[in-house]
Amino acid sequence: MPFRLPDLPFAADALAPHMSAETLEFHHGKHHKAYVEKTNALVAEKGLEGAPLSAVIRTAAQRGEKGLFNNSGQLWNHSFFWQCLAPAGGPRPTGRLAALIEEGFGSTDTMLEQFKAEAVNHFASGWAWLILDGGALKIISLHDGDTPVAHEGMQPLLTLDVWEHAYYIDYRNARPRFVDAVVDNLINWDFVAQNLDGNGVSRADQQG
Ligand code: FE
Repeated sequence: MPFRLPDLPFAADALAPHMSAETLEFHHGKHHKAYVEKTNALVAEKGLEGAPLSAVIRTAAQRGEKGLFNNSGQLWNHSFFWQCLAPAGGPRPTGRLAALIEEGFGSTDTMLEQFKAEAVNHFASGWAWLILDGGALKIISLHDGDTPVAHEGMQPLLTLDVWEHAYYIDYRNARPRFVDAVVDNLINWDFVAQNLDGNGVSRADQQG
C-alpha cells in the first residue's frame, strides 16, 4: 500500500493566529502531500514497496540515495511535527519531562531559549529537535530532510520545522517571529512527554 498523507490532529484553524489555516493548507495540503507522492514514486522505482516508512528512511540513508532519503525523511518529519503542535493554552512540561529538563538545562525557560536559538540559527532548510540521547535531553538541528529516524540512539521528543515554507505566509521571511510564536504558544507538551517512552519514531511511522 502506498504511504498516505496523515490527517492533521487538529482543525485547520485551531492554531491561528500563530499558525494560520492558510499556512496549514499549503504546508500540510501541498508541501507535506508532495513529499508523500515523491516518496511513493521513488519507493516504487526502487522496489521498496511494503517496507515501513522508518525502514525506507534507514535503507535510503545506508544506500546514500539522497532523493529518497530527503523525501521519506520529510514525510516522517512532518507527520511527527503536526503531533508536536496543539492549540494555544495547553499545559507546560510537568512530571518526568520537567525533571529531565531541569537536570539538563536548569529550567524550562532556559531550555526553550536554547531550542529557539538552535531553530533561528540553523543555516538554511532543516529542523530543530529536542531528543533523548543516552538518557539525557539534547537540542540539535538537522539539515533538509535528515531525521532522528536515521541516527542510532536519537529518540525524538519534539521538533520544529524551520524550512521557509513553514512561515512565509504568516511571517514572510521573519523566522525568529515564527519560532517565538510556535514555541511560546503551540507546543503539545503531552505529546513530547509521551515520547520519553522511546517510541517517538513509531508515532509518525506507517506501513508501506
Ligand atoms: Fe515543512
